[in-house]
Amino acid sequence: MSLLSAEGLVKEFGGLRAIDELSVSIDDGELVGVMGPNGAGKSTFFNCVSGVIPPDDGTVTLKGTDVTGDSPESLAHRGLVRTFQNTRELETMTVRDNVRLAAPDQPGERTLPALLRSGSMTEREAAVRERADELIEMFELDHLADEYSSNLSGGQRKLLELARTLMLDPDVLMLDEPFAGVNPTLTREIADHVRDLNADGMTVVIIEHELETLTELVDRLVVLQQGRLLVEGDPEVVLEDERVIEAYLGG
Ligand code: ADP
Ligand code: MG
Repeated sequence: MSLLSAEGLVKEFGGLRAIDELSVSIDDGELVGVMGPNGAGKSTFFNCVSGVIPPDDGTVTLKGTDVTGDSPESLAHRGLVRTFQNTRELETMTVRDNVRLAAPDQPGERTLPALLRSGSMTEREAAVRERADELIEMFELDHLADEYSSNLSGGQRKLLELARTLMLDPDVLMLDEPFAGVNPTLTREIADHVRDLNADGMTVVIIEHELETLTELVDRLVVLQQGRLLVEGDPEVVLEDERVIEAYLGG
């Protein structure tokens, strides 16, 4: 059984079918890349799967449960979280506060488990602070912890968003263009973090527009074109596929 699957997803904007009968299935522990030219429907696919917008048709199944149209909060509670193509941190807050505030309002049994089950507000607050500091250190943002996030570079914002996402302790992490506008050094760093998280058991789905970027990183590539599945499979094989080359040349 797959961990996450979309079946026959459809999403229309006015007359435009952004997602057209799209079916994609992700196994537990996989590291999958979703590629396709601009406008192919990659972000819309993420939006429908992560509850940001409801699909017009089709179903989304997470761990065997139909979660079609469920809210992002409800999906996060079930272990699925995503980042956005344009980062959404609060610019007038420090890096540290941004990470702390990403902790869920309604702690379930999932997040920071031992400490939260122990109960009191002070203990919860302490657990949130501790986890936030851990993540800030892990992403080497310590020296920027007290900076306003508006002072961060594009790449550092991507790291901050990743840290915020991990406050929710996901089983399935969906990243929308985590490398866009990021310099080569930070790109490698983000890729290393993704590899580590996946090695620790997290299922990861990454959107990337550029060809090549994901080849080394992912187990499988899914290529979309005009809202449909064009080709999927081994990255090396997919990138050589005539249909993929043509889709990119055609825009
Ligand atoms: P990608 O992420 O692959 O570049 P998107 O999923 O963002 O593609 O967009 C797919 C298509 O749907 C595009 O033609 C885009 O203009 C359109 N689209 C996406 N979101 C909206 C929206 N909220 N309103 C209207 N059109 C949209
Ligand atoms: Mg997009």
